[in-house]
Amino acid sequence: MERAITGYHLDSLGDWVAELSCGHGQHVRHDPPWQEREWVVSPVGRASRVGVLLNCKRCDELALEVAEYVLARVRDGLRSSASETSLCEEGRVDLVVDSVNHLVPAELVASFKPKS
Ligand SMILES: [Zn+2]
Repeated sequence: MERAITGYHLDSLGDWVAELSCGHGQHVRHDPPWQEREWVVSPVGRASRVGVLLNCKRCDELALEVAEYVLARVRDGLRSSASETSLCEEGRVDLVVDSVNHLVPAELVASFKPKS
């Protein structure tokens, strides 16, 4: 996800880390010829990039984890509803739909545990 650079700090090894609007950090090393970011070595260069968007890999990872978690909860609900054998097919379909409709986003968020 694209996030704006809001500031910078040095990590424990002396490498620059861009602070992003989401609260995550991302290294912005100048390490030619592998990474060319000469702008990061000067205060003026760094200031010129405040507000520029970077793709936040951690936000991408979190969004993927959330999506996987929600899909797993939906599958759990579908499996348990579909296994109900005392109902006719239409009744099982209604139960499956109800199991998804009764998922509460706030409860899903509260029970979500990020991997890191
Ligand atoms: Zn982020």
